[in-house]
Amino acid sequence: MLDVSSVEGSRQGLWIGGVMVKPSQDLYGQSYDPTTGQPWYEFARGNAADVAAAVAAAKDALASPSWRRTTQADRSQLLRRLADLIARDSERLALLETRDNGKLLKESRAQMRVLPETYHYYAGSAATFEGSTIPGNKLDMLNLTLREPIGVVGIIVPWNSPLYQLSWTLAPCLAMGNTVVIKPSEHTSVSTLALAQLIEEAGFPPGVVNVVTGLGSEAGAALACHKDVAKIAFTGSSTTGREIARAAAGNVAQTNLELGGKSPHCIFADADVDRAARAVLGGIFGAAGQSCVAGSRIFVQSAIYDDFVERLVALTASVRVGHPADDVDLGPLALKEQLEKVARYVGYGRQEGARLIAGGKQPQLAEQTGGWYFEPTLFADASNDMRIAQEEIFGPFGTIIRFEDERDLVALANDTPYGLAAGVWTQDIERAFRFARDVEAGTIWVNTYRSPSYATPMGGFKDSGYGKHYGIEALREYSRLKSVILDYSGNTYDTFVMRVR
Ligand code: NAD
Repeated sequence: MLDVSSVEGSRQGLWIGGVMVKPSQDLYGQSYDPTTGQPWYEFARGNAADVAAAVAAAKDALASPSWRRTTQADRSQLLRRLADLIARDSERLALLETRDNGKLLKESRAQMRVLPETYHYYAGSAATFEGSTIPGNKLDMLNLTLREPIGVVGIIVPWNSPLYQLSWTLAPCLAMGNTVVIKPSEHTSVSTLALAQLIEEAGFPPGVVNVVTGLGSEAGAALACHKDVAKIAFTGSSTTGREIARAAAGNVAQTNLELGGKSPHCIFADADVDRAARAVLGGIFGAAGQSCVAGSRIFVQSAIYDDFVERLVALTASVRVGHPADDVDLGPLALKEQLEKVARYVGYGRQEGARLIAGGKQPQLAEQTGGWYFEPTLFADASNDMRIAQEEIFGPFGTIIRFEDERDLVALANDTPYGLAAGVWTQDIERAFRFARDVEAGTIWVNTYRSPSYATPMGGFKDSGYGKHYGIEALREYSRLKSVILDYSGNTYDTFVMRVR
């Protein structure tokens, strides 16, 4: 049992205007421990009234001199303090997340280690992010652009990597002077509430960051259509993303959508097959496959297909399934619904005629503990039009497909509604660049996989969404550009004619 005992059996609140408050209807939902399937703590079920209070607090904070009159240097200093506090409390935050969603503790720890760097990165990069002066087409006129906060940003987050995914939006948002209302997933609220307290301790004024926990259909939907929210940053499924975009359109609010994927992970015959095979395994069984960039479609070139598949089977047999705090490779699924979904897709794979070569059921451990464990599962000899190749499963479930040559592969890789990420293993540098050019995905990994960088923009194409997180691009996403045109000629012009020259 992980020691985050202060949360056990507790009732959590909402974080609005710098204080923990009860939800207005005093309603709560249950969060479960995926290693036992047992209730762990209760999250507050915020509703539209709570969202309205949080947005009002964020709007007040936006107008308040204690935030509006901060300089970039002030905000960078606050972000650095926050980074240091996250580093101080990283073990507790990692334990909270692992207990909440069953992610391997070693991965939660790795994510918590990178969070301070992310906040430091935006503290530094925002300090050098500037508008511009523009030569223009008129004499004696100064044209310049300014970068401003957008306003109140609603951040809606999924359950698979709660603080990691929140931070890729929160850090640039705060760096650019916005205020925010966060709606964490109803399955994993507690680490976000812990972060809110660190934000206060760092010295951010009350109301700059607010947290309304609750259901997507209640708190989430109310946030997405609130008229005072200027932008919604959403990470989650493509289905919900569409609903959010529709809701935000009613207020002409901007959206940034980081959605689902069915990413191709592609192995050419000239690849370093040892490294490639390990990366394939990590790409689909890492985070129990509950990763937006999971390499769930595994394409293997014909010349090495049989050997490579055999190698994958052998490696899969060595995957240690167990409690996420132990030294294992695969923990439980985060939700019971996910477990049921994975089992359903095993059925579809069989019906469609693919060959089950590993896993396909729950291990004994599931029965012994009540935990939501599922064996690492692979189907081989699949075709790209099967459901198991087209639909996001979000579990430890890989679909292996044979390809003949580069052209064949690019066509198959692009034959998907999604376009989030893609990986290629080859020793031919020219082929790697052709792959990067031709495959429609927001991130291409060459001879590596599932290795993001906070300094490099990420984001999807097609049904995987639009907009970027990470890198300087995120500062653009969470600021608005204002143009200022100043006439210093002292001349008087015909005021009834537009001054186009
Ligand atoms: P989800 O879409 O069910 O929920 C995400 C968030 O949206 C949750 O906080 C939920 O409460 C909220 N929500 C649900 N319905 C809503 C509504 N009608 N209005 C407003 N908010 C609503 O997704 P999930 O199951 O939590 O997460 C898994 C999905 O997230 C997968 O599809 C995965 O690929 C995707 N994901 C994408 C990225 C990325 O960077 N592209 C990263 C992580 C996860």
